[in-house]
Amino acid sequence: MAKKIESAYKKRVDGRAFDELRPIKAKVGVIPSADGSAMYQSGKTRAIAVVRGPRTLHPKHMENPQRGVLRVTYQMMAFSVWDRIKPGTSRRSQEIGKVSEWALGEIVDLDAFPNSVVDVIIQIPQADAGTRVAGINAAVMALAQAGVPMKEMISAIAVGKMDKTLVVDVNKEEEDFEEGEGPTDVPIAITSKSNEIALLQLDGKMSIPELKELIKMAKVACKKINDIQTKALKEPGKEITG
Ligand code: UDP
Repeated sequence: MAKKIESAYKKRVDGRAFDELRPIKAKVGVIPSADGSAMYQSGKTRAIAVVRGPRTLHPKHMENPQRGVLRVTYQMMAFSVWDRIKPGTSRRSQEIGKVSEWALGEIVDLDAFPNSVVDVIIQIPQADAGTRVAGINAAVMALAQAGVPMKEMISAIAVGKMDKTLVVDVNKEEEDFEEGEGPTDVPIAITSKSNEIALLQLDGKMSIPELKELIKMAKVACKKINDIQTKALKEPGKEITG
């Protein structure tokens, strides 16, 4: 029998099972003027992604005749959390834009649009933790709707550890859990066919077996998210829930 682990985090603040996702909503085609757009919501965290392109890259000297450029920006809206978010870029928003770009860069077929750029703009109207993973989930749906060639899809989730308890889909109240070993938040993105890790960030401490278990939990969650993304792509304009 597995050894029981004593942890200060015995019950989730919102009553979910430790491996349970927050309610999901997904919709493709939320901004009609865009080449592709999508909304992805997990609990109170909502992300909107817009895709423009492939289009001519300016300035011209940045053009690459071998391959296209993927450019991702991320921003939280001023009213997305209780304290107003200062408009403009911050170190955090630049970091999230870059890691989202690297994750999406794993699946977008850049060779298919030489000399051109695809812009992905991620906006967060409502934040309750997990905004970077919600942004990636929305972005990949928007890219697919825009017809940008991709090798496969991607789904992302923030898993984590509250003291010694492993959980799926960390919310803001959990991110602030300070008892015992405190909180560790691990955003992970998984590719849909090859089942590879396209993003993994970890701020905190954990053992290798704990991390391996969290990756397994994230892969199960990402399968469920991928089902919802696929359904949303089949029915643009319809909100899919799960
Ligand atoms: N947050 C906030 N103000 C900020 C940045 C973040 O209130 O300036 C909150 C917001 O709810 C966000 C959460 O802190 O979702 C966690 O932020 P983190 O940087 O860990 O990234 P995320 O989990 O959103 O990907």
